[in-house]
Amino acid sequence: MSTHRNPYAPSSAALGERTGPVDAEGCWREGSLLIVTHDSVLPNRCVKCNAPTELPAKERKLYWHHPGIYLVLVINVLLYLIVALIARKKIAVAPGLCTEHAKRRKLGIAIAWIGLAAGLLLVSFGGTQGPAFLVILGLVLTLASVITGMLMSRVLYPKIIDERGARLKGAGEAFLSSIPSTTDWIRM
Ligand SMILES: [Zn+2]
Repeated sequence: MSTHRNPYAPSSAALGERTGPVDAEGCWREGSLLIVTHDSVLPNRCVKCNAPTELPAKERKLYWHHPGIYLVLVINVLLYLIVALIARKKIAVAPGLCTEHAKRRKLGIAIAWIGLAAGLLLVSFGGTQGPAFLVILGLVLTLASVITGMLMSRVLYPKIIDERGARLKGAGEAFLSSIPSTTDWIRM
């Protein structure tokens, strides 16, 4: 999928004033969900706060598989990974992010990595020479920072992906209210 921009789109200053659909293709809202087709072009506005974006949006690949496949985890982790790899569906989207939300995303990634490194150091130190509670503290820190980082850094994430497109969570109300709703669109 290309991330080309419509050369006839209004300037970003004008976009900030608009509330109707602008240079968007293949994207709709349905409640709190953003619905996109496989060849959608998202408007060049932040998907979180609807502020105009300066930089071209980065294409991101999203993956999804039927939740029932998680049951395979109970049997075997490796088997689950194989089944999930085969059954997963993907979609490429290029959501815009304003400077503020791009910073928040980077901060989330930093928290995850720093927390992970600090947590593993604690586990290793506690396991070899320190008191044993440091191991537990390290594991908690690792898990907490990875989850916090993931929640802060995810932009759009799929509720479902199929051959027609995807229903995505994570878009902000300001952005969703600026795109058409699914009134005249066939339900997935
Ligand atoms: Zn924003």
